Amino acid sequence: MKKLIFVTGGVCSSLGKGIAASSLGALMEARGFTVRMVKIDPYLNVDAGTMSPYQHGEVYVTDDGAETDLDLGNYGRFTSAPLSRANSITTGQIYKTVIEKERAGDFLGRTVQVIPHITDEIKRRILVVADSPEVDITIVEVGGTVGDMESVPFLEAARQLIHEFGRQNAVSVHVTLVPSVSGGEIKTKPTQHAVKELQEMGIQPDVLVLRSKEPLDEGIRRKISSFTNVEMEGVISGHDVGTIFELPLVFYAQGADAFILKKMNVESRHAELGPWKKVVEKTKHPAAQVRIGIVGKYMELHDAYKSVWEALYHGGIANDAGVELVKIDSSSLESPAPDLDTILGCVDGILVPGGFGERGIEGMIVAARYAREKGLPYFGICLGMQIMVIEYARNVLGWKDAHSTEFRKTCAHPVVSLLEEQIDVKTYGGTMRLGASESITAADTGIRRAYGSETIVERHRHRYEVDNKARPELEKTGLKVSATTPDGSLVESCEWPNHPWGLGVQFHPEFKSRPTKAHPLFKAFVAHCVIHAKGQP
Ligand code: GLN
Repeated sequence: MKKLIFVTGGVCSSLGKGIAASSLGALMEARGFTVRMVKIDPYLNVDAGTMSPYQHGEVYVTDDGAETDLDLGNYGRFTSAPLSRANSITTGQIYKTVIEKERAGDFLGRTVQVIPHITDEIKRRILVVADSPEVDITIVEVGGTVGDMESVPFLEAARQLIHEFGRQNAVSVHVTLVPSVSGGEIKTKPTQHAVKELQEMGIQPDVLVLRSKEPLDEGIRRKISSFTNVEMEGVISGHDVGTIFELPLVFYAQGADAFILKKMNVESRHAELGPWKKVVEKTKHPAAQVRIGIVGKYMELHDAYKSVWEALYHGGIANDAGVELVKIDSSSLESPAPDLDTILGCVDGILVPGGFGERGIEGMIVAARYAREKGLPYFGICLGMQIMVIEYARNVLGWKDAHSTEFRKTCAHPVVSLLEEQIDVKTYGGTMRLGASESITAADTGIRRAYGSETIVERHRHRYEVDNKARPELEKTGLKVSATTPDGSLVESCEWPNHPWGLGVQFHPEFKSRPTKAHPLFKAFVAHCVIHAKGQP
């Protein structure tokens, strides 16, 4: 029998439900079970692709080109569960499908309603994932907070599935907040109310993950257990930890995963936690330390470049180095005479991540020039690679007006321009060059050395591309095109000549990095930052 775990949240948002769900997934995998992860987002957008990073944080891209919630990135980092379009469900998708079916006459004669039509479509999508023959356990995270109006159909679908599967096959994990007020007194009331709210939806939680500052003692947990009908073994302290990678170990130490397996009548297996322990150990006690400057435009919001931060930490783990992130708003480099040695002189490497829109572009170009001229490791991702090309064209080739047609519709030297396939695209939402595709790396380049292979597969999300008309001149003056699409028509990476490590990629390697297996490009970049740090006086 297939097993389902529903993860919901109570009291307020941003409690780390995604990390809790991911940690449970990691533990189930560590015990040898085949796990799948599903995220439900109760907003009306069909996907996250059309939302501003300020609203929603990073857009995580899957191999099949879905533009999804950043929690899928957490699943990808904590588990090896494959992620695709099917693993991200939104209200927008559900209504779109049901309304399209209604227009096609699939429900002829009947009134189409939230229950059963919307809830049936939600259940169908969850089961598409869970019913795959190889899958043992499917973890479904319901976004939002129980009590929000828009979560109601999803909670009703979860209730029905728990009923249909039986509580021995489907469990509910509720993540709530246990705050402390002045004087340090711990308050259980918000959790009691949050559980009541879930019970009113017809769902009795089996496990509570209690988010708190400090570990919660047995007395508090017992009190919560007695008020909520959750067995004591299922009341788990989800206190703050030094690094999120510790959470699977914190859950394991309290027997959370063993208890869930017992509830689901599954015989427990040995948990292989060695790789997680190593990650925590390396994070807490690194041999070296590097400072990496990220020059981008969505700096105020940590989540906007979530996978990039995480991949840098992974690169640090792989190099036994602690990574300190220095967030630099690219606009701050645009004043007439910025003090670059003060702002950029203190970092051991610069990363310019992906982005859209003109604001802050000139500051990124300033940062790229500084890195190129000072021999500072530079890593450009997507927009960051396009910046590298514009800077090179302007300052090495002498094309002072070189630009991307994303920012200057008409300029004499458009070194980055719209992909041909994008010329007739008029709509937004899933219309960029999206998802995984192959690239071929050239021999004797930084990218080939990092991957150690000729063919690589990486995910894309862009509309613009190095203009092929500019390529011969750029290459003649030394810019190395070090990877292309297999037919050679699109530039996938370029590198500065005579530079320790100046590399830009048109794709997004950050989506495939894991704490237990850093992405080769992040590993190589951080390795060069470590060399730079050691060379400093
Ligand atoms: N705006 C650029 C493009 O569309 C870069 C996109 C990105 O960085 N993801 O090509």
